[in-house]
Amino acid sequence: MDKLDNLRHSTSHLLAAAVTSLWPEAKPTLGPPIENGFYYDFADLKISEEDLPKIEAKMKQIVKTWNGFEKIEVSTVEAKKMFKDNHFKIELIEEIEKSGEKITLYESGKFIDLCRGGHIDKPSQKIKYFKLLSIAGAYWRGNEKNPMLTRIYGTVFPSKKKLDDYLFRLAEAKKRDHRKLGKELGFFIIPDEVGPGLLIWTPKGATIRREIEKFIVQEQIKRGYQHVYSPHIGRKSLWVTSGHWDLYKDKMYAPMKIDKEDYLVKPMNCPMHMMVYKSALHSYRDLPVRIAENATVYRYEKTGELSGMVRVRYITQDDSHIFCREDQVIDEFIGVLDYIIYLLRVFGIKNYYFRLSLRDPKNKDKYLGSDKVWYQAEEKIEAAVRKLNLSYQKVEGEAAFYGPKLDVMVKDALDREWQCGTIQVDFMLPERFQLEYIDKKGKPARPVLIHRAPLGSIERWVGLLIEHYAGNFPVWLSPIQVAVLPITERNLEYAQNITNNLINQEIRAVTDDRRETLQAKIRDAQLAKTPYMLVVGDKEEKDGTVSKRDRKGKDYGLLKIDDFILALKKEINEKTLG
Ligand SMILES: [Zn+2]
Ligand SMILES: [Zn+2]
Repeated sequence: MDKLDNLRHSTSHLLAAAVTSLWPEAKPTLGPPIENGFYYDFADLKISEEDLPKIEAKMKQIVKTWNGFEKIEVSTVEAKKMFKDNHFKIELIEEIEKSGEKITLYESGKFIDLCRGGHIDKPSQKIKYFKLLSIAGAYWRGNEKNPMLTRIYGTVFPSKKKLDDYLFRLAEAKKRDHRKLGKELGFFIIPDEVGPGLLIWTPKGATIRREIEKFIVQEQIKRGYQHVYSPHIGRKSLWVTSGHWDLYKDKMYAPMKIDKEDYLVKPMNCPMHMMVYKSALHSYRDLPVRIAENATVYRYEKTGELSGMVRVRYITQDDSHIFCREDQVIDEFIGVLDYIIYLLRVFGIKNYYFRLSLRDPKNKDKYLGSDKVWYQAEEKIEAAVRKLNLSYQKVEGEAAFYGPKLDVMVKDALDREWQCGTIQVDFMLPERFQLEYIDKKGKPARPVLIHRAPLGSIERWVGLLIEHYAGNFPVWLSPIQVAVLPITERNLEYAQNITNNLINQEIRAVTDDRRETLQAKIRDAQLAKTPYMLVVGDKEEKDGTVSKRDRKGKDYGLLKIDDFILALKKEINEKTLG
């Protein structure tokens, strides 16, 4: 355990001491340090979050008497006697006994707990900056057949500043939560009538998605990709050939019968692009062939794991398959990396790294292909990443079943990590689908396949963006770019003309024609996170001008509408982050 873990773990002892002092019937069970804090699970404890301040106060009082954690070694018999009223601890004692380990207790002040150790010294001085955060139900040892316990979460830091920073980020994360903010802003709905995890993009969210898709299609065309459309269902045999049916079945929906034959809703798009490649003859000179599609695929996720836009039962991938010669793999891979880095910059993501996901060496039967092919693919990926001098981490067990992959790990404005896009090198599917090209000697040869989806899922990506931008989308992505606000009813026609002018120039504008005060209109446009507001009254109407404001409350004063449009178009074209 590192120092911070020791501090967290020590504080969980303190929490248990306070809880048992306030509620003597409560039975402490386990209290480990976790990422960003600690928890402790109690049996026979019925409390609510309103009790947390009382527990904190007790902790502050008790910790003054704690000078250290004193280790006491006891026999099993003694330990069982001490915890005779707590069958959870008895269960732990019996496990320790079986493992042959010594049973140790730690005493701090008047509180004694069964524990393996890992504490700080001088708790009375060091446990100062803590906070209890929430209460949740948790099954004993995470098993739903076991009794439900009361879990208290808390956090602790070595300094006030660090604690305050963390609490600020926590509060900010709550405010930015895309499930809350995305609904408030009217970006999506997940109606129960449709089904869990089946989200509908409402007009504003659909606008964001359409702008992203337009942008990536155009950008990919510049980079030599050819776009296609393919069906959402296909014969089951397609995914039998690809190996998905054998190795990916638990994520797939059951087949449906069409003309007495099994069809599947597609869980992955790969076989469709294999068909595109196969539909023409290719010579070595034609390669690489880059087929792209914003393709919606359907995957089963457990109900309990569904979450807003980031875990849904269908995802739209910015999918592409690059068919190339073996001598082109590294350059193609580098081309994809270059594109990914460009995309991240456009979206204002500064903090990211790459993760090289490899096979689980203990479970090779979960993957296709020989060791040789796997090492070959891994080598190509590493060569490409090294050529660009990118840092990466290696992780075992996260590969696709047909090959190793490089995952894009993004950190958002609050420093939280999101797994997004991925690039994979695949020698397997070209073999299984019998893909060919004619090599220099006029003989048939196998291409290598690169699967890539830089954003991963567009649903997840927009969820991330909502939280990253806190809803303040840059102008190019904002569902409404300009709100025109007439001061009085007299100015409504002038306002409407301006809005029409903007719409004709492909700017997303609306007139707020409600009988509200100007203040209310400005406030509502700001709440909707509309980048610009144009206020128009008698003076503006007479001069043929507008008064420009932004969502941060800045007032730019009067300007000519044409000047406004010119500047706005520049901002949109440059995809300025704002
Ligand atoms: Zn301990
Ligand atoms: Zn694929």
